[in-house]
Amino acid sequence: MTIPQRRPILAANWKMNMTLAEGGAFVKELLARSLPAGVEVVICPPFTLLHLLGEKLQGTSLKLGAQNMYFEEAGAFTGEVSPLMLKDAGAHYVILGHSERRAHFKEEDSLVGKKVGAALEHGLSPILCVGETLEERKEGKTLEVVERQLAGGLAAVPRERAGNMVIAYEPVWAIGSGQAATGGDAREVSAFIRRLYGDQFGREAESSLRVQYGGSVKGDNIRDFTGYPEIDGALVGGASLKADSWHAILQAVGQQISAP
Ligand code: PEP
Repeated sequence: MTIPQRRPILAANWKMNMTLAEGGAFVKELLARSLPAGVEVVICPPFTLLHLLGEKLQGTSLKLGAQNMYFEEAGAFTGEVSPLMLKDAGAHYVILGHSERRAHFKEEDSLVGKKVGAALEHGLSPILCVGETLEERKEGKTLEVVERQLAGGLAAVPRERAGNMVIAYEPVWAIGSGQAATGGDAREVSAFIRRLYGDQFGREAESSLRVQYGGSVKGDNIRDFTGYPEIDGALVGGASLKADSWHAILQAVGQQISAP
């Protein structure tokens, strides 16, 4: 099976890891290696590293992303970071609605939707995360949950900006567990996401939408996902924290798209 026309996107979610020194060393090590052409690579460090990495990634093929933001531009919102600030630090992408934010910080679909709308308004591309818990999967509610999260998360997306979205399908039970979904299951949900997106924004937007899989992705299983035309890359946590394991994922996808 071949990869689709859309440019694959591999995003590293460093979560609450990495000091300035560690993040700088990681980028130096990664940039010393050959990186696959035709694959978009995004690093999403904690806020404290955004500016440093923004400078280090300038003029390279790597893009910068944040892991969260608030939807207002400025004001009395102690502890929050705005879309303007992310742009100022050099970010192109922002992860929104990650399951850890939904679970630990009680972010609801309505809030995620406001953030997605604000990110697009300010020229940031959201990586909107959706996915079911193990309990929900066992109850056969996977598609219902994903549909609800998409309805809320996409509520403020204007049609003219629908071409700038990335959606990450991340089953909660697969995140950090070492137990990835099967390629077939990820494909089924990704196809469902595409269809709903097309229903809402039109078939052109659907065909430009990039859908990632996320959950225990490594160099030796990434192709189980990116081999399907409905899946355009991955959002990666644990295996993105070491230059070696991250590079193995980039290489695997690079080889896959250059294979005849
Ligand atoms: C994530 O946190 O988005 C993630 C996919 O983590 P991991 O790759 O560690 O499962």
